[in-house]
Amino acid sequence: MERPKEDMPYTPFENKVQEPWRELWAAHKVVLDAAHDEAAFKRCVKDCLRLVSTRCAMCATSMATSLRCANCKTIYCSKKCQAAHWKRGGHKARCREIARVGAEQDYAGRRAADEAAKAARACEEDCEGLRCFVCLGDEAGLVRGCGCRGAAGAAHLRCLAKFAKIKVEEDGRQEFWYDCRVCGQSYHGPVQIAMAWEVWREYRGRPDGDRCKALAVNTLAQGAFAAGDFALALRCFLAHIAIGRLYFGDRVLDCAVKHFPEVSGCLQALGERAAALALDQLTLTCCTVAFGPEDIRALLCARNVAVSLSRHGEHHGAIALLREKIPVCARAFGDDHETTMTFRSVLCKALLAGDRIAAAVKADARGGRLGDLVLEIAEAAVLAERAVAFSTRFYGVAHPTTTNRRQDLAVARQEIEKFGMKEKLAELGAEGLRARLRAEIDAAGPG
Ligand SMILES: [Zn+2]
Ligand SMILES: [Zn+2]
Ligand SMILES: [Zn+2]
Ligand SMILES: [Zn+2]
Repeated sequence: MERPKEDMPYTPFENKVQEPWRELWAAHKVVLDAAHDEAAFKRCVKDCLRLVSTRCAMCATSMATSLRCANCKTIYCSKKCQAAHWKRGGHKARCREIARVGAEQDYAGRRAADEAAKAARACEEDCEGLRCFVCLGDEAGLVRGCGCRGAAGAAHLRCLAKFAKIKVEEDGRQEFWYDCRVCGQSYHGPVQIAMAWEVWREYRGRPDGDRCKALAVNTLAQGAFAAGDFALALRCFLAHIAIGRLYFGDRVLDCAVKHFPEVSGCLQALGERAAALALDQLTLTCCTVAFGPEDIRALLCARNVAVSLSRHGEHHGAIALLREKIPVCARAFGDDHETTMTFRSVLCKALLAGDRIAAAVKADARGGRLGDLVLEIAEAAVLAERAVAFSTRFYGVAHPTTTNRRQDLAVARQEIEKFGMKEKLAELGAEGLRARLRAEIDAAGPG
């Protein structure tokens, strides 16, 4: 049966099997170690950046040796899969083109086209009646995924990519591949993802030591992460670290600051929590020793450790760490600053963690003090309110960060309702609340 075009698999096995990322991680976590192992780094780049050419094109079986299409070298696990792919997987129509550009480039091109179309569909409503600020045309396919509002910032994805490419060629500036040149904010959502595949399509064929290749690997990693494809993001982050260490003189400390948090984020999302926490603690130690505890880099590490602790169910440790660091952070970045706000959001989430609340309620039944919990939920509500007000102003009301923070606020309010906390809150009065929020109030003051 013919499948509709939209379902036509650029990789027929997408979501069909789990990516064998565990072996990849086991083989290449050496790039996170201190030793400079050039051969291992090179192997890592090669393995990690082969997105399609190590698996059967029909059934996604991962393999080292294989049967190949005589013409385009696409690999298969069996004659049966090869025949099925020719007839039903669309290989007949694609074989010649794959032979011309290679399987990886072909995949990159089709994936880029597909993500561009998805972004255009997602932005259709938002961009209605607008013109592309690059080519000034108003043909369909406009996208916008940054901080631009009103008539500003709409463009064709191909126009954004063309402009970004020209800037790289003209003066080596790479940021237009991921930042809007009108408002300066990073692309998010489908536009970020589409630009990531576009930059990958454009530069993936460059040598590993080329700056544009490094840009492409990193941008694809970020895009994959944003798209929730953590196995792909992990591959790309590992390759990017190896490239940095091989060609750009990155030391372990540089990697700890720049990349370990990203790797840990992937591991976390893939369910490897212990590995993620270990990596975060290593990073925190590195940065604290190197820069001092009040340094911005060390603070960001502390935040990551808090996130990891919280995801581990160790909310108590996370909350203590965050309460200690928020005033420091407010001094370092400013009180009304996005980074400080992210600390508050993490604290808010830790305070509202379902398992923590359940445990406190259980303890209360055994003669504990629900009053503490009430105050903490009230504190979470205050934090969430601030974060929502801030992100509405900073990102706009429809930005995913704002939405996320609004959800925190909704949860806090729900909890307050659920436990009939309004009365208890009134009972405890402003004094108790103020004492609890002391850190917040101090942070808001001068110095
Ligand atoms: Zn197969
Ligand atoms: Zn072929
Ligand atoms: Zn245009
Ligand atoms: Zn913009």
